[in-house]
Amino acid sequence: MLYIPEASADIENTATWAKYHKQLCQHCDASCCSLPVEVKATDLIRMGLMDEFELEENLKFIARRLMKQRLVEHFHSRSATFILARMANGDCIFLDSHSRRCTMYDKRPDTCRNHPKIGPRSGYCAFSRK
Ligand code: SF4
Repeated sequence: MLYIPEASADIENTATWAKYHKQLCQHCDASCCSLPVEVKATDLIRMGLMDEFELEENLKFIARRLMKQRLVEHFHSRSATFILARMANGDCIFLDSHSRRCTMYDKRPDTCRNHPKIGPRSGYCAFSRK
């Protein structure tokens, strides 16, 4: 039988996170969608936030535009990594606050596709009860 935790994890404390199994997502409030999401330019192109031809431009300028549009909250130029913007409550701006589902699931970034295999604690997630 699969284990569904009684209590929600503390998102800031990975020691409280639950060992991941697929069925957990059915009972979770999408807490992983309030973690900072690192994305690359290729993700932004797939998400429709950036055009392919913009790859030839300095990514700092793209980041500036995306920050102005409140789509991105940070840009690390050394690693060419963007952090997706979040709402005041910490949710990703692409999370539907009612259904708690991703509004661009088919185009979601690799970070989201690979979570929790890749993340703050590999194989564990910040399960939070619905
Ligand atoms: S892009 Fe979608 S899956 Fe990724 S954090 Fe945002 S709402 Fe969640």
